[in-house]
Amino acid sequence: MKITNVRSVILKLPKISDAADGTQDDLVIIVETDEGITGYGEVDTAPLVGQAVVNAHMSHGMCYGLKEVIVGMDPFDYEQIWQEMWFKSYYYGRSGPVMHVMSGIDMALWDIMGKATGKPVHKLMGGSFKSKARAYASALMPETPDEVKRMVDSYIGLGYTAIKFGWGPLGYDINLDIKLIKTAKQAAGNNEIMIDIGKRYQLKSALRVARAMEDLDIYWLEEPLPAEDLEGYKILAASTTTRIATGEEESGRRAFKRLIEETHVDLIQPDMSRCGGLTEAKKIATMAYDHNISCIPHAFKTGILVAASIHFVAAVPNAPFLEFSVTDSPIRKEILVNPFVMKDGYVDVPQGPGLGIEFNTDIIKKYGVPAVS
Ligand SMILES: [Mg+2]
Repeated sequence: MKITNVRSVILKLPKISDAADGTQDDLVIIVETDEGITGYGEVDTAPLVGQAVVNAHMSHGMCYGLKEVIVGMDPFDYEQIWQEMWFKSYYYGRSGPVMHVMSGIDMALWDIMGKATGKPVHKLMGGSFKSKARAYASALMPETPDEVKRMVDSYIGLGYTAIKFGWGPLGYDINLDIKLIKTAKQAAGNNEIMIDIGKRYQLKSALRVARAMEDLDIYWLEEPLPAEDLEGYKILAASTTTRIATGEEESGRRAFKRLIEETHVDLIQPDMSRCGGLTEAKKIATMAYDHNISCIPHAFKTGILVAASIHFVAAVPNAPFLEFSVTDSPIRKEILVNPFVMKDGYVDVPQGPGLGIEFNTDIIKKYGVPAVS
């Protein structure tokens, strides 16, 4: 089988806000083959930049666009394809948008391999540790305690047993933060609450909030510090019994190696649409497992990324949760013909070939943005 084309489709809502909501636009990667099998992937990056990474022309031997690197290659040679993309984009890649786009391409390759063999991706990744993934509702933190309580009641009413609140007003006033966090946990009872600060604290604030969270039994504190503050993460992780989570910003196993070995945070959060794809994420998860820490993917995009994340969560032994975005974005809600459904706190691991999803092509007519020439 040979790859014949790589298409990149930008989707965008008519109106976009500066809220930390990655479902307002999208970059979908569609890999076509000479056997008529098409694979889908998704990229969480600046879509126009990602599209340029796909379509760029070769400047020299270490500076290719990714489409011209992989056309003609066999999707089953996914390790070789990954290496080719890595080395032939070395002058402008190695992290950031290039690794993000590599992730979407890699995701599409796994979809193709599954469709070609009639097997679900988790089967090709080595088998499944679970038949359903425990989903946590992932929402932006609202402004007031009343709204927090209303949202917790609503998600628990829907069947969720874990809820993450992130960003929004968090990170500016630790007294307000603790009040909102306390309200969430009181409303949630025995259900789990996770908190994502969005990189806004310095170490001492992070430590105060993490210690307040110990008594509240909050499941994890995510990205309290900027991603670069490895020293801060190390001190923080060693100074509290609250689990510390980070990693959604990172790409590539080497960055995760540093994160794991230099900080020993309690759980890392590679994003399948940013970290280098399923191929790289599997290596990252193994590294985390060997250091006895959890690897719970970040996923705040659409059902394509949810699909890749579920297969990953199923195929590794140290991923106890699945991030499940609950935003109202029609892109998120309409991109799949059959969207994923959470039932009693869990989402079934897809058993169909490939990622096990059907892309709704009508979404391109509704939200597609023409390529810039
Ligand atoms: Mg986060």
